[in-house]
Amino acid sequence: MDLITTDASPALPAVEAPWAGEVRAHPRMLADIAHAVGGPFHVLYPEQFGDNVLALRAALREAGVGGGVYFGKKANKSGCWLPECVRAGAGVDVASEPELVHALAGGVRGADLVVTGAAKKDSLLWLAIRHQCLIAVDALDELDRILDAAGRTGVARIQLRVLPPQDPASRFGLGQAELDEALRRCALASDRVEMEGFSFHLNGYQVLPRARLAAELVDRCVHARALGLAASSIDIGGGFAVSYVDEEHWRNYADGYSADWFHAGKRFSHFYPYHQAPAGAAMLAAILRSEVDGGGTVAEKFAATGTRMLMEPGRALLDRTGFSVFGVQGLKERDGYAIATVGGLSMSVSEQWKNSEFLPDPVLWPDTGAHEPIGVCVGGASCMEYDMLTWRKVPMPRRPQPGDLLVYPNTSGYQMDKNETEFHQLPLPTRVVVDRADGALRWRLDR
Ligand SMILES: *Cc1c(COP(=O)(O)O)cnc(C)c1O
Repeated sequence: MDLITTDASPALPAVEAPWAGEVRAHPRMLADIAHAVGGPFHVLYPEQFGDNVLALRAALREAGVGGGVYFGKKANKSGCWLPECVRAGAGVDVASEPELVHALAGGVRGADLVVTGAAKKDSLLWLAIRHQCLIAVDALDELDRILDAAGRTGVARIQLRVLPPQDPASRFGLGQAELDEALRRCALASDRVEMEGFSFHLNGYQVLPRARLAAELVDRCVHARALGLAASSIDIGGGFAVSYVDEEHWRNYADGYSADWFHAGKRFSHFYPYHQAPAGAAMLAAILRSEVDGGGTVAEKFAATGTRMLMEPGRALLDRTGFSVFGVQGLKERDGYAIATVGGLSMSVSEQWKNSEFLPDPVLWPDTGAHEPIGVCVGGASCMEYDMLTWRKVPMPRRPQPGDLLVYPNTSGYQMDKNETEFHQLPLPTRVVVDRADGALRWRLDR
């Protein structure tokens, strides 16, 4: 056990995939990239993304349920994921025209896109119908606009987004009476619309609410089929959990939590649950084997009715697929800890936006083997007092110095571009894609 004499917080080392350690262990790669791009950068490893897709698809297959995975694109805008979606057999969930066009340009076919979001623009609906995308209908007036456009453009493929009964205050989805009315309008317009099923997207990362609502919607599908509609699939949305740190480290942190661990005694309203179980494909497997209706499992109910299960994971497909790198520009001492200032802005680590903080420990590079532990907070390059990438006094093996790099692990899911900004006319972080040629790591810029 290290004796830490400064007032650092407990360590929260990230659980990472082997490629991340290999890139950091490479003698020159990170320094070369930093030199080439001259500012902060994100390192992306698409192969891991493809493997994450395949793990979800395997969970469906093992449960004997047909269906598919759509990548929730808003969680990371990089182009490098799109060919991996094609390779691994996933579609993409888009919510804007630029996202739709980007997915097409990345090789994903229109028929493999689902278009979600509230009150979609007519031009987005038109493009979606043209490309035979599946459209998640969020309101009755939107359904009318789709039917109108379909009359001029071609048959629209739709699913009806359900207002979650357990979250009745949500601004998304159709309530019970609206669903009945939507089904009636779809049945009357069967020459213009293919009603493929129902969808939802729940807050939180719980298994049971998803299992219950999915099972309930199977009954709705069966009812809709009796009206002559296809109603063949249920889209259970995203919100698959990601576990960033192991259970012991997380418990140490959560049980001993103290505002003293943060610069200026900073207090936060909440944190993402950085350790969770089950996560990713294991969470999907848990949904599928949940018992519903007093007996059978969700998987059995889907299989028995020939209903397909669709899903729209964002964060979970990006788990362990990338990290973010900021150059250290300076260090100042405080009473018992230090503040490193980096070339970058806290909006790149977007939890700050929600009065929260991205907690997995940033890693100081290079690893010199030094052992002079110190707690270090990380400030951004702007002139705002609150521009802190990390308020927490992270235990580091030595004092960072100008020219070092700070590597924020596992940032692909929402921590790269969700809130990035050119504030101060600073350039956005560059995106670097790492893959292998003949087993050796190499890098290029993302397109
Ligand atoms: C954001 C979003 C997702 C992805 O959510 P994750 O938590 O990243 O899995 C999926 N579907 C819809 C409709 C969304 O808005």
